[in-house]
This record gives sequence, structure tokens and C-alpha cells, in this order.
Amino acid sequence: MHQTHMIIDGEQLPISSHKVETICNPANQEPVALVSVGTRQDARMALEAAKKAFPLWSETACEKRAELLHSAADLVRERAKSIARLLTQEQGKPLKNARAEILSSAGILDYYAEEGRRNVGEWLATSRGRSVVLRQPVGVAALITPWNYPVDLLSWKVGPCLAAGCTFVAKPPSRAPVAATEFVRAIYDAGLPAGVVNVVHGPGSEVGAELVENPISRKIAFTGETETGRWIMAQAALHIKRVSLELGGQSPFIVCGDADIEKAAAACAQRAFSNMGQICISVNRVYVADEVAEEFTDRLVHQTERLRIGNGLKENVDLGPMFSNEQREKTKEHMKDALDRGAELLCGGREPEGEAFEKGYFFLPTVLDRADHKMKIMREETFGPVAPIMRFETVDEAIKLANDSNYGLAAYIYTSDIATGIQAAERLEAGGVGVNINNVMDYQMPFGGWKESGIGRELGHYGLESFLEIKHIRLGI
Ligand code: NAD
Repeated sequence: MHQTHMIIDGEQLPISSHKVETICNPANQEPVALVSVGTRQDARMALEAAKKAFPLWSETACEKRAELLHSAADLVRERAKSIARLLTQEQGKPLKNARAEILSSAGILDYYAEEGRRNVGEWLATSRGRSVVLRQPVGVAALITPWNYPVDLLSWKVGPCLAAGCTFVAKPPSRAPVAATEFVRAIYDAGLPAGVVNVVHGPGSEVGAELVENPISRKIAFTGETETGRWIMAQAALHIKRVSLELGGQSPFIVCGDADIEKAAAACAQRAFSNMGQICISVNRVYVADEVAEEFTDRLVHQTERLRIGNGLKENVDLGPMFSNEQREKTKEHMKDALDRGAELLCGGREPEGEAFEKGYFFLPTVLDRADHKMKIMREETFGPVAPIMRFETVDEAIKLANDSNYGLAAYIYTSDIATGIQAAERLEAGGVGVNINNVMDYQMPFGGWKESGIGRELGHYGLESFLEIKHIRLGI
């Protein structure tokens, strides 16, 4: 069976030296890998290693760092097939999506290899002297990530962290650490000095907490639940550490009366159900103009019923199982709450039948009609494959409903009137707005949340800046 070791100071710690856990496939419970479970002591050792490696890495020329990052990207691509397979087995997503995730992560390393070369400073001549502004690496970073995109979301942190000249300790999700560790191993194998990249495994409340609390880490880059982010922010305050927090979402999807309904329904189904709705920018609330509600609903149900569900390792599967039984139970609980409060079930709403599904955490993609804001499904993060629909009369009303949330990660609007699209985009309270497009993520552009969806931005030059400190040097001449 595959073995997943922690990487500390360039060494793969022998699995036998630790408590060992078995990671199982959510599609059938088959064992996938043995993982060593670390302790606070391992996290401390990894932080010490990253601290020791910092002077060398931070002073390495940007061209050299770029060269190593490109080599790392190449090695990740070379190993993409095997890493993707492990990702599907531990997380559940279809193999085609797992491969796309690994390749995208390699692309992020290439992007930041070049972004790091553009980390230029400033110069100003004044009447009393000269001023120089330097942008220098913040120090050792703790990179803490969730299970839904365990490789992609780690690459969003690793790329800018290394390009900025920081060293890191990564803590992948406890129950899906396999592919993420392979990703970091490929980066190390590309020739980075020992201690620049480190990976520890173990419970967030212990190993993750040590990375946050220990004064060695100067920056915490975290993606996960809002509650965990809140705790991390409070701890970071004790040492005034830099934080970037990518947290939960409750994304609205507005369909105006003048929208291309076929296109909107297909886009909605894809963004609501892909990765079984376990995406922070998934569609969680659908607001549809009264006059097109029937047509949109019919088309959405049609699109939903076409999706093929099964073991992610099988060809031609659109959706795999959910990641865990807890996720599935939470989805059922939110759905039941909605039905008890008057929602109408249009499709899905149960586990699929048949032997192939018996041992996995499968759930059919679900569409609900007649939803309203009293329902948990419209207010809390479900993180499951449910699209609840609520109708509206005016776009103004739809925007108010969309903004009536503690979250503000992504929002989407479909309309054929560009002015409506632009005005709505300006008024929607979210870090990313898609107008006639169902994805707000682009390597080059900032990604992050408003309100309780987070603080700071990843990707683009914003991602690099979050690993840099600014220094003003004043020259008296
Ligand atoms: P989680 O918060 O439970 O765990 C995330 C990571 O934090 C894991 O590695 C976990 O071990 C670690 N952790 C837990 N407690 C910790 C602590 N006290 N100190 C330090 N680390 C700790 O989140 P999850 O269930 O793995 O992921 C799902 C959540 O992630 C959802 O809320 C989802 O919206 C969010 N998410 C957000 C984005 C975004 O970009 N905004 C992207 C993907 C997922």
C-alpha cells in the first residue's frame, strides 16, 4: 500500500516512528494509503528546519528561485498521473478532475516562478535624500489546507511563498494528506535545499495549532472553515502574525428575466454539483426572475438528471461520492430543514440505489424549489450537492437577497443586458463576481472573500504580496 511520510528538513520520516492511520476511499472504503500521524513536537521540528533554511532561501537570487520552481512544475506534471490517481482515491472526485487539479497546481508554480522575478522595489529622490522601498520575504510560513482541493489550494500558497523567498511548513488535511504530500515531495525532489519545504501530518487541533501558535511562523496562509479561521486569526493576533484566510462561502446565482436560460441552467448545474458541491465558490442559492422560473427550473432539473455518478476511478463519471459521511449527513439535515419549512423537492434528495453505491458516501444531486431565507440551506454553508431555488420580481430585490448573508466569497449573475450585469457586479458583496460565467478563479487575478468568507487575497500579484514585508530605506545624501 502507498505510504505517506512527513517531510522535515529534507528527510522523509520513517512511517514506523509514528502512530499510523489508514486513509480509505470514500467511494468504497478500500484502503488507499498509510499515513504517519505527527505531533506538536514534529510541527516544532519542522518549524525549526524552515527557520534554519530561511536565510539561504531568502537570499537566493530570484532567477534561481524561478528556475527551481519551473523544474518543480515539470516534475509535478511528470508525476501527475500517479498523484491524480491518489487524489481520486482519497478524496473521491473523478479522475479527469483530479488530473486537472494537479496540472493546474503545476501551472501555479510556473506562474509564480515568473511573478517572483517581478518583485521590484521603488526609488524616490527627495530634497533631503533618497528613499528605497524593498519588498522582502516575511519569514517562515505555515500553510494549512482543507480536503476539497487538497493540492490546488496548497499550490496557491506554495507558489507565492517560495517565489517570495519564504520557507514553509505545510499541514495538509488530516483525512486527505496523500496527494498533497506527493505534490510537496515533487517540489523538494526538483532540487530545493533541505528545510525550505516541510510537511507535517496530524490533527488540526494539535499539529495545525502548533504551527499557528509557535512564534517561529510569521505568516499563516489558511483555507478552511470560517470557525477555524476565526480561531487562527485570534491566535495570530497574539504575535501580530500576517494571515490570509480563505473561508466558507454561500454563493448566490441570479438569473434575470432576460438571461440565456439554457446557458444559465447548464452553468448553474455545473457550479452547484461539481465536486459534489464541496467547493467554497459552489452555487448555494439560486434566485430566478418570476417570468423565467418555470423554464429555468425545468432545464436545471434536466441538466441535473443527466449527471453520471459513480466511483471516480471509472471512465465517464461526472460526480464521485461525497468526501465523508459527516458531509453527507449535514447535507441531508439542511435538505430536511428546507423541506420541513416548505421547500419542494424537484430531483435527487436521496442516495443512489445499487450495489456499486452501497459502501460509498454517494448522494444524488438535488434541486429544491420554493426556498426562502428562513431555511438553513440559504443561510449556512451546506458544502453538498443541493441547489435551492427562490423566485424574485426585480433585480434590486435579488441583489438584496444575495447580499443578505454573513458570507461574501463569490456571486454570479446571468443577464443579456451588460448594464444590468455591471451594476449588479458593483453592488454584490463578494470578493469575486461572475457575470455570465460560473467561475471567479483565474491565476492572474485576486481570489478571496468579503465579510466572514475571509481576509487577504490569493493568486495574481496579490498572492505574492501576502508573503512580503515592506521596508523603507532612507539614504541621507
Ligand atoms: P477545516 O477548517 O476543518 O480544516 C482545514 C485545515 O485546518 C485542515 O488541515 C485542518 O486539519 C486544519 N485545522 C483544523 N483546526 C485547526 C486549528 N485549530 N489550528 C490549525 N489548523 C487547524 O476545513 P475543512 O473541513 O477541511 O474544509 C472545508 C471548508 O473549507 C469549508 O468551509 C470551505 O468553504 C472552506 N474552503 C474555503 C475556500 C476558499 O478559498 N475560501 C476554498 C476551499 C474550501
